[in-house]
Amino acid sequence: MAAVEQVLAGQAATTAWQEDLYRDLHAHPELSHAEHGSAATMAAKLRELGFEVTEGIGGTGVVGVLRNGEGPTVLMRADMDALPVEELTGLPYASLARGVDRDGIDVPVMHACGHDVHMTWLLGACELLARGAAHWQGTYVALFQPAEETGDGAQGMVADALTDRVPRPDVALGQHVMPHRAGLILTRAGATMAQSDSIRVTVHGRGAHGSMPHYGVDPIVLASAIVQRLQSIVAREVSPLEFAVVTVGSIHAGTKSNIIPALAELQLNVRTYDTAVRDRVLAAIERIIRAECAAAGSGREPEITLFDQVPLTVNDGGVTRVVTDALAAVFGDAVQESEPITGGEDFSHLPNAWGVPYLFWFIGGTDPDVWDSAVAQGRLLEDIPSNHSPFFAPVIQPTLEVGTRAAVVAALAYLAPMG
Ligand SMILES: [Zn+2]
Ligand SMILES: [Zn+2]
Repeated sequence: MAAVEQVLAGQAATTAWQEDLYRDLHAHPELSHAEHGSAATMAAKLRELGFEVTEGIGGTGVVGVLRNGEGPTVLMRADMDALPVEELTGLPYASLARGVDRDGIDVPVMHACGHDVHMTWLLGACELLARGAAHWQGTYVALFQPAEETGDGAQGMVADALTDRVPRPDVALGQHVMPHRAGLILTRAGATMAQSDSIRVTVHGRGAHGSMPHYGVDPIVLASAIVQRLQSIVAREVSPLEFAVVTVGSIHAGTKSNIIPALAELQLNVRTYDTAVRDRVLAAIERIIRAECAAAGSGREPEITLFDQVPLTVNDGGVTRVVTDALAAVFGDAVQESEPITGGEDFSHLPNAWGVPYLFWFIGGTDPDVWDSAVAQGRLLEDIPSNHSPFFAPVIQPTLEVGTRAAVVAALAYLAPMG
């Protein structure tokens, strides 16, 4: 029997505790940077499996290392944080949790992005690889990362001397549950997830009585002009063959109908797959904002600051081929090519810290019957909740089993002894 089959043979025992763990993690989600309970659970299980465990890297980050003789080092990452979303799934294990967000506000908390699935997958893979250690050689590094949703968790681990505290991997791997038929595995070489840049903008006018607009400079009219003009960047400045999204997600000004306020604040989000396109879009945004302020007679330069930046995810061609072939040998037609995803991930900060190649791929988590009937009715967008939706509810199986197996198969593509 091949090493992969030998290692996967013990999966039934792993599945039993994984389902309980998953429901428990789902019912007890924790916000970004507050993943204390989840981190403790991960560390305890890793110790039980014989991993060397380091806790508290970059806040709540946990890394387990399983040294198993000479051979390559493979790192696999799972993120642990949940979102300020009120769960509406109606599941028996739905979250009732609340937390305090970074602005000090009490918010509902939900695993609406499936990071509970990711933790469960990776712990399951750790158990299978630990129990099947006779069938592979090398070092397996399981990394549990805080604060993916705020975009700073991976960087926080890197800044906390991750590369000194953890063996340098030859390859880094990660996988994300997404709305697609459960059991499907989607990989893609090259740019796979978008770079994301958020921009905070304050434009200044001059406050006045609403009945006497000629005494002021209206920042609401100015902000409205900016919002309109920004739409022309993607429509008129980016090549129709290139990809970019510019969204104004927040606009705030004023307190009362008859007061012209002194300023307006906007928050923008930009998505791109190419650094040159990104630079061009960011420059166009700044040019338009400054020019509209001048056109309005603002009299004061706007403040424009970047925040919540998430890097481009660019899968290595060689790693994509090796892992996709290994997955296809086990899962056959269930392995397909992913489309580029407009969402972003901070995963690549981890491999980039060492300068090592990586693959980040996707696993479908939607109940196959629900998926098939939505496809049949042409209602995918309406009926299938996406990540971050209050209705996001991955079906437990086959999602947990497939993701756990995929994690093992991908690692063994590098760790299994030749011949
Ligand atoms: Zn998310
Ligand atoms: Zn996520």
